[in-house]
Amino acid sequence: MRDPSGFMREEYQTLVEKGFDWKLRVLEGPSAPRCRVDGKDVIMLCSNNYLNLSNHPRLRQAAKEAIDTHGVGSGSVRPIAGNMDLHLKVEKKLASFKRTESSLIYQTGFAANAGLVPQLAGKGDVIISDELNHGSIIDGVRLTKSDRMIFPHRDMGELEKVLKEADKKYKRILVVTDGVFSMDGDIQHMDKIQDLANEVGAMTFVDDAHGEGVIGPDGRGIGAHFGIAGKIDVEMGTFSKAFGVVGGLIAGSQDLVNFALNKSRTWLLSGSHPPQVAAAQFAAIDVLETEPEHVNNLWDNTKYFKKELDSMGFDTGQSETPITPVMVGESHKAKALSERTFELGVFALPIVFPMVARDKARIRTMMNAGLTKDDLNDALAAFEKAGKELDII
Ligand SMILES: *Cc1c(COP(=O)(O)O)cnc(C)c1O
Repeated sequence: MRDPSGFMREEYQTLVEKGFDWKLRVLEGPSAPRCRVDGKDVIMLCSNNYLNLSNHPRLRQAAKEAIDTHGVGSGSVRPIAGNMDLHLKVEKKLASFKRTESSLIYQTGFAANAGLVPQLAGKGDVIISDELNHGSIIDGVRLTKSDRMIFPHRDMGELEKVLKEADKKYKRILVVTDGVFSMDGDIQHMDKIQDLANEVGAMTFVDDAHGEGVIGPDGRGIGAHFGIAGKIDVEMGTFSKAFGVVGGLIAGSQDLVNFALNKSRTWLLSGSHPPQVAAAQFAAIDVLETEPEHVNNLWDNTKYFKKELDSMGFDTGQSETPITPVMVGESHKAKALSERTFELGVFALPIVFPMVARDKARIRTMMNAGLTKDDLNDALAAFEKAGKELDII
């Protein structure tokens, strides 16, 4: 007799034996710089809520008001009956924030990549990817019949060669890349990619999930950071990170938006955001436009935290952004450091193989605009104590 679900138990058991299973922590209350996790008061260093907007009074208020005026659900997918005035308001504001002609909101960033990438290239075309691109891009690429080419991480010389080769063989060429890479916090050479793409008439697509609200003037993202806002064919991003809410987005030309909303199956076949989400998204952009202190605090905290970690003797890698890896090396040591710092009141998760190379295990800390100097000093003291105990520094 077949055991129809036996593989679930077996595969799970294998993950547990290898230590690759997720042990879920429980957040009791809001995701805030100081929060409660598994019954313990801790300093949060692993949330993507970079600007602490998820707790901003204007976002909370906007969400509550939208429930009163519009209810808690949109009732449908957008192409049928779920296209609310609140959704359109966000898209208009987002396009103005990103300095693009138009924009479109998706249910999530994952849905934007998985829904749009496969529509942009097909048989006879090629998608060219950075080797370290996010899984949602990779899944989007897998849904196409297009050929694929990979270039080594941020290697513009190699990209140029790949583009020249692609230029001879293919009709459409799409270059797709993360803007800020989430494991190391380094920034893609988007200005150079745009120039190289222009030479052969290739399309460019950047996933700016960790750049929006973080880099560029007022946190406008990677286009603004390099002074090429509106020139990249597709700027994709998310409301689930620095914007503090949830939802995916693309910004670009009206042609792009007309095409994307008629073609992306993840957009067409999935219910739209509830009113309170759309209202909070709108408020998040408005806060970024009117309260520059959040982005400034984020960078001040980042500089201070990195400088202090470095002076203690930690290796913080190549990051150029608030993503601050604390490099450890071996997986078990990275896990031990995370457990010990948690006991000392700091919540930061280890990143180990297979997410990064076997000898590149680390704790990935993410800075937050809402952390005070005292919070940072407490977190640093915990890292110093645990780092010494474990012979890392
Ligand atoms: C988080 C992330 C996504 C997914 O965004 P969601 O809106 O959370 O689905 C996509 N790409 C990158 C690079 C990310 O870091």
